[in-house]
Amino acid sequence: MSELRGVGIGSGIAHGPVVRMTEALPAPAQTPSAAGAEAERARVREAISHVAQELTARGEAAGGSAQEVLEAQAMIAEDPTLLDEVDERIDAGSTAEWAVHDAFAGFKATLEAVGGYLGERAADLDDIAQRVLARLQGLDAPGVPDPGHPFVLVARDLAPADTALLNLDQVLALVTSDGGPTSHTAILAREKGIVAIVGAVEAAGLATGTTVIVDAAAGLVTVDPTSDEQDRAAQRAADRASAEAAPLTPGALADGTAIPLLANLGKPADAADAVARGAEGVGLFRTEFLFLSSSQAPTVAQQRESYRELLAAFPGQKVVVRMLDAGADKPLAFLNDAHEENPALGLRGLRALRASEDILREQLTALAEADAATEADLWVMAPMVATVEETAYFTSLAREYGLKTAGVMVEVPSSALLADRVLAHADFASIGTNDLTQYTMAADRLLGSVSAFQDAWHPAVLRLVREVGAAGARLGKPVGICGEAAADPLLAVVLVGLGATSLSMAPAALADVRHALSERTLDEARHLAEQALAADDAAGARTAAAEAAAALPPHQKETTS
Ligand code: PEP
Ligand code: MG
Repeated sequence: MSELRGVGIGSGIAHGPVVRMTEALPAPAQTPSAAGAEAERARVREAISHVAQELTARGEAAGGSAQEVLEAQAMIAEDPTLLDEVDERIDAGSTAEWAVHDAFAGFKATLEAVGGYLGERAADLDDIAQRVLARLQGLDAPGVPDPGHPFVLVARDLAPADTALLNLDQVLALVTSDGGPTSHTAILAREKGIVAIVGAVEAAGLATGTTVIVDAAAGLVTVDPTSDEQDRAAQRAADRASAEAAPLTPGALADGTAIPLLANLGKPADAADAVARGAEGVGLFRTEFLFLSSSQAPTVAQQRESYRELLAAFPGQKVVVRMLDAGADKPLAFLNDAHEENPALGLRGLRALRASEDILREQLTALAEADAATEADLWVMAPMVATVEETAYFTSLAREYGLKTAGVMVEVPSSALLADRVLAHADFASIGTNDLTQYTMAADRLLGSVSAFQDAWHPAVLRLVREVGAAGARLGKPVGICGEAAADPLLAVVLVGLGATSLSMAPAALADVRHALSERTLDEARHLAEQALAADDAAGARTAAAEAAAALPPHQKETTS
């Protein structure tokens, strides 16, 4: 085992000795209770309330979205249905330990059967059950070890409670064998800027003390690296640190070509961080994130207030707001009520909005009102557009509401292949590489077992991006990228070489991408794109671009032609 692959979170790199996470407690034995049901119930209640309080306290210490996650966990711990399940087992003669173990396992299996977002939450239940069991047995909760020196933490998966409180002075990087790119571990690692690789199945075999390099950009763990490899990793980490500290200049190539760097946001409160990191506007505001737990459609007034708050944070700057993208992993109760076998291929995105056009019209109304009250340059776009007709439908509807810039997301291969005709109607295109990769490669973006196919470096995906880029150039219309691919510094350069005119990403990625762009001219970016396009697969494309980049003179400031 000299290399392990997984899904990299962010683009950091780190190296150091592995320390494995403390192993889980063994499953309790199914022995009958000697203490009696009443005593067992009292023990369970004490343990659950202790764990809930501890999770809440950890959340308060961590703040941010970690707090939300941990408070949600505390609520799960005290869920009355779950407690009923535990009581039922105790009443049948079980010990508190067995009842907790068995009831939580049953609940977890239910969530896993549902799959998708809820399936990924299933791992959280294991952590809560372990904490309750530890309390019942008077043991310390399993958690992050403290070896007294910096280390690479290797775990099967990390509970949100642990990720939230990781001591970043000690934990150099995180590698998990379970978990997908949308697991809580991944979400929190991304937010905290932890160098992380999730879903590296073979990490289960990594022993404490082994030296590894964790290269999140490549999704690669190098085991027992040579000293040369360690030096190169240290150099890359130092380059990243200096990119982080560099001035917040607008995104531009080495020849001065402007490539605006924009932020992907899910709530207005995140705007301040994006501005602090030098975002030149917003390339993707995911409006559905505001209403994931609402059972009813939000009112115009409610929406207007959220959009006004967002737009007010970017006076004079571009803010691209995406209409509600409901369905698949992000169902909205008020837009997706039918059961679908394959929701990713169902009535989602613009299709769902069109089926409830009143909701789409209300959203456009709220946006037009927020636009009138603020100074930002508002652009609106529709998600999951598959046809030219859908493009014409949405853009003319948006203009009916006085919204002057209306475009579409290109996330379905059909609209990439017909980009020239799509762009004949739309003012701009924004390529969602997450879904475009999912649909091009026929690989569910939430499924760890097919994550190897979910790689936007694949030349098939790159060709589609080139189609859109070329159409945009011919028609003089902007083509942005707002999928995760834009956050990969080398891929970002390649995407520009394929015709992207702006890049939008999680704010934490802005510094790396700004630095990568500043090192390449447009001709060089096109050269790297050609090398990547000529490969047979994603790994080949990545290597071809990296080798071509390494062969170019550094920091070239002039165009080569
Ligand atoms: C995408 O699909 O690339 C995208 C940006 O949209 P989302 O990730 O919200 O589906
Ligand atoms: Mg998408």
